Amino acid sequence: MRERDGDRCTFESADGRRCSATSRLEFHHILAWALGGETTADQLTLRCKAHHAHQTALDFGADHVAQAIARRREARVRDPQHEHTAT
Ligand SMILES: [Zn+2]
Repeated sequence: MRERDGDRCTFESADGRRCSATSRLEFHHILAWALGGETTADQLTLRCKAHHAHQTALDFGADHVAQAIARRREARVRDPQHEHTAT
């Protein structure tokens, strides 16, 4: 999956330029988990941290993102393994 995506962020801007970020990549669920997406290679794509947050904001709305970030911070304290970071 990482090879397919070229080991870099798959975000494309409106004018077709692809993000060149190759560090701090995260797995983005193309069909969001919360909406029934499965964690398989077909359903995952690489996004840099900024574009992952950007896409999630598009999928769910900014309010949801703010809440999710707050929940993740709490979850990380309880369970350090609960991270989808790819690096
Ligand atoms: Zn990016």
